[in-house]
Amino acid sequence: MLHHAVFLDRDGTINYDTGYVKNPDDIKILDGVSEGIRKLKRDFGFKIVVISNQAGVAKGLMTIEDVEAVNSRIDFLLKKEQAEIDRFYYCPYHPLFSSEDEAMCRKPSPQMLFKAAEDMNLDLSRSYMMGDRESDVVCGLNAGVKSILLKSDIYDAELSALQNQNKKPNFVAANFIEACDYILKDFGGSN
Ligand SMILES: [Mg+2]
Repeated sequence: MLHHAVFLDRDGTINYDTGYVKNPDDIKILDGVSEGIRKLKRDFGFKIVVISNQAGVAKGLMTIEDVEAVNSRIDFLLKKEQAEIDRFYYCPYHPLFSSEDEAMCRKPSPQMLFKAAEDMNLDLSRSYMMGDRESDVVCGLNAGVKSILLKSDIYDAELSALQNQNKKPNFVAANFIEACDYILKDFGGSN
């Protein structure tokens, strides 16, 4: 059976983005995230999949273990709120510090979504991507999923970066809950 998924960027979407997030003790979950994930699962059984660029590893600013420790902490904090993430994917490479082949996973490449679709039996045509950056939106569009841009401090820059490429998110959301409400309506066919 094919499942449907909501792909989530990590830093700035699930947790506050303090820049190269590496200390699990600093993790703070953004408002509405656990509630939104619970709704997505309860109402329509979405798989929740984290898709994250972590080039700080390639740049020597952190290790794979740091990335995994932060992922575990996020998993723990969300589980406490009955909000479960099904799987984490991340790309620790960067084209300036890694081989071209390795860096292929980096968003806006759709590679991590394709990998998740294969691993988890996902129907991308019934799935969504949510993130706070232009690269999240383009990644989603490249993978053929509906893409949602979350408003944040960097919203203006991200939106103009999209406009420069003639790309547009399917929806712009003021926050995580608004993005989830869009998904629930859209998936339920009442939009
Ligand atoms: Mg982000």
